[in-house]
Amino acid sequence: GVETDLYYTSRRDVQQLLKPRRKFSHKGTYGHALLLCGGYGKMGAAVLAARACLRSGVGLLTIQAPSAGYTVLQTAVPEAMTLTDPNRRHLSELPEAIDKFDVIGVGPGIGTEPPTKTAIGQLLATSSHPLVIDADAINIIAGSDRLKEQLPKNKVIFTPHPKEFERLAGKVNNDYERLQRLRDFCQEHQCYITLKGSHTAIGTPSGKVYFNTTGNSGMATGGTGDVLTGVITALVGQQYNLEEACILGVYVHGLAGDLALRTVGDIGMTASDLIDHLPKAFMCLQ
Ligand code: AMP
Ligand code: MG
Repeated sequence: GVETDLYYTSRRDVQQLLKPRRKFSHKGTYGHALLLCGGYGKMGAAVLAARACLRSGVGLLTIQAPSAGYTVLQTAVPEAMTLTDPNRRHLSELPEAIDKFDVIGVGPGIGTEPPTKTAIGQLLATSSHPLVIDADAINIIAGSDRLKEQLPKNKVIFTPHPKEFERLAGKVNNDYERLQRLRDFCQEHQCYITLKGSHTAIGTPSGKVYFNTTGNSGMATGGTGDVLTGVITALVGQQYNLEEACILGVYVHGLAGDLALRTVGDIGMTASDLIDHLPKAFMCLQ
């Protein structure tokens, strides 16, 4: 029954998930992530996801973005390598040598232009990577039954807000139906979903649902979801399994918001404040 597989994530559970950094390690130890993010007028989404990824322990980060974003990304995120798409404004191609990455995060700021849809189709068809799929990448998959059928099993984390979730999984009339739909979709497609909200619900392929306990209404502002995409992508790159990456990522993202609350309050909080507080949030869990 529904009752038996519902959990709240406590601080102690999450502390036990966190892996210690090893003395004899190097940047290769912590994974090489690829972010396919950004579009004309939405390059900030790529900046936020990339900065959050770097503040979440990833070893190496490459961003592939439309060529209009090259200078922005090299300037705003000097720690990341930047590849440019041949298209100036939209994602239209996957990078060569895509196999070398440990995880791919895709979606923030990409839009839903036809060449972008084609690229997302190629990503699902050819990639053996774990995928963190957000924002317009969710919308593109939601609009195509063929792509939904093509989803690789046990390799995908979706990070929708409630509207993106309904596009992906169908309309629901109330919270109970939303929860049922979350469980059904994750089981049918053998995927993970972080259904975002004031208590983000994490669905798993085995039918479990975890409710997050951190976060606050200061986070109800543009770009905070892009930050979560970066955090979860970094964790998957560091070899957390997909369930752990969802639970830890959502928790630490909310905790960063709760720490930011103390210094900037809820009214003035921005997505960049979350990124600034990620290091302290991880330290709180150590
Ligand atoms: P997005 O809509 O994609 O930008 O994602 C918004 C992010 O902010 C998600 O991680 C939500 O869980 C979080 N968020 C939005 N509103 C609230 C709220 N009232 N309380 C806690 N977290 C929130
Ligand atoms: Mg979003």
